[in-house]
Amino acid sequence: MDRASEHPADFVGGHGQLLRSSAALVVAAGSGERLGAGRPKAFVVLAGRPMVAWSLDALAAAGVPRAVVAVPPGHGAAAEEALAGAAGGFPLGLTLVEGGATRSASVRSALAAAGEVEAVVVHDAARPLAPPELFTRTLAALSDADAAIAAARVTDTIKEADADGRVVRTHDRSRLWAIQTPQAFRAGALRAALDVGGDVLAAATDDAWLVERSGGTVRVVESTPANFKVTTPHDLAIAESLLC
Ligand code: C5P
Repeated sequence: MDRASEHPADFVGGHGQLLRSSAALVVAAGSGERLGAGRPKAFVVLAGRPMVAWSLDALAAAGVPRAVVAVPPGHGAAAEEALAGAAGGFPLGLTLVEGGATRSASVRSALAAAGEVEAVVVHDAARPLAPPELFTRTLAALSDADAAIAAARVTDTIKEADADGRVVRTHDRSRLWAIQTPQAFRAGALRAALDVGGDVLAAATDDAWLVERSGGTVRVVESTPANFKVTTPHDLAIAESLLC
């Protein structure tokens, strides 16, 4: 067993202070229309528990002391009931907030409720298979960056095509990464990056892009495709078979 899986909090080593002064911002406010489950994706039952509970377990095991979960407007009471069992994993508390119209607006609401912290780690509730050590590795990588983001090497060849489907470019895949969450941030850098208009927030498919455009340093932290995002019923079936 490697050191990280033995005790994830130790893995942060000299950066333990960052872990102790961190909060998880878990975005769970999406509608999950593509899953077609008739309820918000984060609260779909996966291997016997609401999907978001798997991420909260991993964060608690990593030693992140507090968590804020952005939940869909109007679902607060149901979310509170669903997450009651997870609160014990966070010594500094588990807070629910109402999410926004876009993913980054949900992150902004969660950040506002996180209090005075040095670092935050943003995670999609839709990625229930992220291991505890991935949270500690992204937080540790903040030692020389404003943001550190989980990413898997691209194994397919990536081509770019125009609107007619004609290939215009083949990218050098040795430099390409498929970006995931967790994404860890120096709290001040994320706060500044999120201080933009709703149109910019709506254009952000990840939060690190907002830090990039505000001139911050963003590092990739190697992850694997096993940390996939549950989007379709097929993804849900695969996650179910891996977690049971
Ligand atoms: O829709 P997609 O799967 O890309 O969403 C990624 C994550 O962002 C999900 O965990 C979803 O719950 C969350 N989200 C959110 N608020 C929104 C839209 C998405 O918290 N308005």
